[in-house]
Amino acid sequence: VPPTDPTVPRPVQAVLERLWSNGHAAYVVGGSLRDALLDREATDWDIATDAPPERTRDLFGGSQYENPFGTVLVPLDPWDQGQERVAGGTDHLDAAARRDHRGAPTGSIEVTTFRREFAYGDHRRPDHVIFGTSLEEDLARRDFTVNAIAWGRRSDETRCRLIDPHAGQADLAARTIRAVGDPAQRFGEDALRLLRAVRLAAALDFSIEPGTLAAIRATAPLVGHVSRERVGIEFRRMLTTRPPSRALRLLETTGLLEVRFGLLAAQRGVAQDKVPGHDLWAHTLRTLDAAAELAPGDEVLLLAALLHDAGKPSTLEDGHFPGHDEIGADLAERFLEELAVPRREVEQVADLIRAHMFGYRPEWTDAAVRRFIRRVGPDRMPRLLILREADNLGSGLAADAGDLGELRERVEAERQRGVPLSLADLEVDGHDLMRELDRPPGPWLGRLLERLMESVIADPRRNQRDVLLADARAWTAGQDR
Ligand code: ATP
Ligand code: MG
Repeated sequence: VPPTDPTVPRPVQAVLERLWSNGHAAYVVGGSLRDALLDREATDWDIATDAPPERTRDLFGGSQYENPFGTVLVPLDPWDQGQERVAGGTDHLDAAARRDHRGAPTGSIEVTTFRREFAYGDHRRPDHVIFGTSLEEDLARRDFTVNAIAWGRRSDETRCRLIDPHAGQADLAARTIRAVGDPAQRFGEDALRLLRAVRLAAALDFSIEPGTLAAIRATAPLVGHVSRERVGIEFRRMLTTRPPSRALRLLETTGLLEVRFGLLAAQRGVAQDKVPGHDLWAHTLRTLDAAAELAPGDEVLLLAALLHDAGKPSTLEDGHFPGHDEIGADLAERFLEELAVPRREVEQVADLIRAHMFGYRPEWTDAAVRRFIRRVGPDRMPRLLILREADNLGSGLAADAGDLGELRERVEAERQRGVPLSLADLEVDGHDLMRELDRPPGPWLGRLLERLMESVIADPRRNQRDVLLADARAWTAGQDR
């Protein structure tokens, strides 16, 4: 059966056409072709060509060439636009400037000159690359057979074809990740491939070919050579796969979890009285999968779900885990810093872990509900409630166990009432108090605001300027500054 041509979007076609019509061989390669052959949506397109980088740059207005690997980034216009706009002109700089929330281009075409890579002295990066080699050599340097297929033609050929020297199509059909060439050697060259194998297998729901899997196990310690930034990127991408537990189980069975994610590996075998026969690690993974269902793509929540019980292994005492919320939050912070997760996100995750052990009772007064909202922070409340929902599901309970549904409704009711829940809602601020009491700023100010806030939480009707100022005067009368 002749293979059907992959669906290649028009702007990508246009880049190929321009290379062909200028006398160059050009092919779609890599993950974008793999995804197209699988009928999965591809975003970032990779093109391999015999054109040297400077030549490619000159052929495409607005392209960028600023790395030693021969990659030219050709900006990608929205795919519904005509090919003329893609082939030249500087409008494309705007498209290149389009970034997603993590700063990555939202879609790009990377044109890379055929190359070979030599000597990976640091188990990570080639010591040097040479250009001007053949397509076959270029495919041979790629990591997995499903990523080592090409579709395109030379300038003098009339028809495009699939070039597949490593039988990647057969592995696509068999849903298998298999290293190109000798697996142990390939992982030894570049240890990032260890994580890529797991991430790809999880994302595509492929299995890892036994020889490749054995080589990953054997070379797993090399993952220590991968920078925390790169590990972090792969790990966070693993969390976006569904269900994320698949990626984590693969990290576990390959031994990578033990080597690089010790805080998680420590949860294995820790007994819990939640689901019979489930250890802490199983509970964590169930919680994580539930979080991915409840709030897809919410990385802070996913990380909080993954790490919410990270403090348990080190706090276990007579079947209890005293203080595991606090200790877990600290451990999670260090863990995430080791993955170069941005500081702001680390703090959000740690805050959720610190707050996750609340115990709601229906007899709470409305003021108690407001105090809870204030302590957690109104902004964090929605995520904290979802985290508990996931934790419930991960414990084999109903999502709303522990009267969670009722708590959610009461929190929402307080919010709807518009009652003051944070200092920003208070009818007076620090400046008002300093002016009114004629005092310079100092520790008294925070304490006083806190006390006023407490009084307003207890009775929202007190949130009136004159009432609060009168209280402030009364409470500070006769006090030292
Ligand atoms: P995705 O874009 O979905 O993460 P991908 O396979 O496209 O997956 P990229 O990082 O975009 O990954 O790389 C594009 C191609 O470059 C890969 O398909 C593969 O052929 C090759 N490649 C990427 N990283 C490596 C590596 N570390 N070792 C060998 N080849 C690699
Ligand atoms: Mg890609």
